[in-house]
Amino acid sequence: MKTRVTEMLGIEHPIVQGGMQWVGLAELASAVSNAGGLGIITALTQPTPDALVKEIEKCRQMTDKPFGVNLTILPTIKPVPYEEYAQAIADSGIKIVETAGRNPEPFLPLFKKVGIKVVHKCTSIRHALRAERIGCDMVSIDGFECAGHPGEDDVTNLILLPLAARRLKIPFPASGGFGDGRGLAATLSMGADGINMGTRFMVTKEAPIHENVKQSMVEASELDTALIYRSLSNTARVFKNSIAKKVVEIESRAGETKFEDIQPLVAGVKGRALFKDGDLDSGIWSAGMIVGLIDDIPSCDELISRIVDEAENMITKRLAQMMTD
Ligand code: NAD
Repeated sequence: MKTRVTEMLGIEHPIVQGGMQWVGLAELASAVSNAGGLGIITALTQPTPDALVKEIEKCRQMTDKPFGVNLTILPTIKPVPYEEYAQAIADSGIKIVETAGRNPEPFLPLFKKVGIKVVHKCTSIRHALRAERIGCDMVSIDGFECAGHPGEDDVTNLILLPLAARRLKIPFPASGGFGDGRGLAATLSMGADGINMGTRFMVTKEAPIHENVKQSMVEASELDTALIYRSLSNTARVFKNSIAKKVVEIESRAGETKFEDIQPLVAGVKGRALFKDGDLDSGIWSAGMIVGLIDDIPSCDELISRIVDEAENMITKRLAQMMTD
């Protein structure tokens, strides 16, 4: 398949791995890139900008294909030196950056100066239009189905993607709710140039997380995610375990919820420990509604080949056969 995404990013298949905190390490990013997609290393998973440079170097040893770095700017428990991370990315020779969370405008001059293509993740059309206006090369349109932060508008990709196709000039992959070839074919029909998958790549052989986490997502249905931080206007879609239910319960109590009320339950360091030791009720982790469509743990190569084959089949057989003279 040749789309504006494959052309601009220099990849074989129109499939991008989303940035994922604690998951976007060189092992996964290189596996996705070696399979013909675009792997992404998550900047903030590395404790320092220097550690990020080392992770990028490690990934270069594992693949000679293009890969990118995700830089997410959202509220955090500890302050993050974003400028230093951005500088480290620019100095590292990376050519593709996925930004998310906040307007990436302050970082664009730095990234553009060294020829980085910027893909900004947007949960609304107004943000996508602004990203286009300020000079982003691409946007990733993130529907309400997605894992992590879906924004506060609650609009699904069935509406966002055709709207984006009508209003944007720059290419856009779609993220949120993707994990199979039907999704890829549908999204191409709706005007997108490819898909971005996070949760689906968590449930692969190469994802550097505990088997218990992968297995729980294989067993989950589409009803097994929860929205937390709604009361703080920092909504996140996470796997519905006992901790997520507790956070929802605290947020539903009368009166204002303060972040301090839930911080001990949701701290990212607990999520990182959970991914390592597999204790499924010791923290929270991001997961999208696509868990309802995940029922195996393939390698990234098997997964990407399957998705592309299935999409081709949908387009050239199922859809083509519906056309009558
Ligand atoms: P963290 O431990 O600093 O915070 C845990 C969670 O609480 C995060 O979702 C954060 O956004 C939220 N939070 C922190 N302070 C808050 C406040 N004052 N009000 C409302 N919400 C608050 O986060 P972490 O796990 O170390 O992750 C670092 C950053 O990366 C966070 O901003 C997180 O949201 C973001 N993130 C990125 C990805 C990605 O794919 N790149 C995925 C998940 C989370």
